[in-house]
Amino acid sequence: MANEGKKIRRIALLTSGGDAPGMNAAIRAVVRTAVFNGVKVLGFRRGYNGLINNDFLEMDSRSVNRMSARGGTMLYTARCEEFRTEAGVKRAADNCRYLGIDGLVCIGGDGTFRGALELSHYGVPVVGIPATIDNDIGCSHYTIGFDTAANTAIDAIDKLSDTMQSHERISVVEVMGRHAGHLAMYVGLSCGAAVTLVPEEPFDMERDILDVVREGRINGRNHFIVIVAEGVGGAPEIAHAIQEQTGMETRITIIGHVQRGGSPTARDRVMATRMGHFAVESLLKGEKQIVVCYRDSHICSLGIEEALTMHKELDRYMYRVAKEISI
Ligand code: ATP
Repeated sequence: MANEGKKIRRIALLTSGGDAPGMNAAIRAVVRTAVFNGVKVLGFRRGYNGLINNDFLEMDSRSVNRMSARGGTMLYTARCEEFRTEAGVKRAADNCRYLGIDGLVCIGGDGTFRGALELSHYGVPVVGIPATIDNDIGCSHYTIGFDTAANTAIDAIDKLSDTMQSHERISVVEVMGRHAGHLAMYVGLSCGAAVTLVPEEPFDMERDILDVVREGRINGRNHFIVIVAEGVGGAPEIAHAIQEQTGMETRITIIGHVQRGGSPTARDRVMATRMGHFAVESLLKGEKQIVVCYRDSHICSLGIEEALTMHKELDRYMYRVAKEISI
């Protein structure tokens, strides 16, 4: 496709914030789309640290071989406190100018986009790609990594469910999601959890957990899965209280960081590839300050400032469905 405005000769990319399966597929798409359009690519390591310290590698089609299938991020990811300072951003912008970077693709979450926005104020065109297992980015209905993380948790909980059924136990399972319950709710709905607790909804022990278990037992149910999003906190205490109050043996499982890894699902590979491709085409068209979004089944974009004002509510309908069909 034809470049519009200033000729784009060299772009850069980085992954920042928490990792998510599918980041590598996005990297691959960015690199290959750039190469297809005759554009050189630099990959900065460890998020904004690489940009400040000039820690990068030159990338070509071969450097991203088979990257669609790999979890994690080949560019590493990290937080960078120095980039939160004016001096840090200025140093990164100076490096971009010195290296002749005409645009930067930043793959990560809201914090990563905030950093990108700061950098754009120094004249570096930036495009953000949303990647986080929490799916908690307001501007995009989907974020890279969510589907893989959900399937990892579902796989673990299905296995737990088998043994809970055999021993007639209750399983309290903590899934990731410090500030948002999208992942927990999606997983709870998929696994037929009796109870799903999310940070967005305060819960009452008696009404929302113990009564559900009691009613389930009256209906002949002999095992239960209780999903607790990380941000709710206190999963061990909840498990202890359930055992005390119901007399049913209760076990606690914290799935933890396995949810962040693993080979991405088809959905994450395809989404990451489409978003990576869109990001590079946007830079070629002269975009300077956008986030790539998935909205109403389309890949599109929004200005970073507007994107950062948006908040994603928990899907109340899904939450109600999960409650109504739990027992
Ligand atoms: P996750 O969803 O996994 O938390 P994130 O991108 O939101 O991902 P953050 O730790 O919030 O993760 O941000 C990543 C990095 O972006 C920070 O370590 C910092 O380098 C940069 N950053 C965040 N906020 C700002 C800001 N206001 N100004 C400059 N840089 C920022």
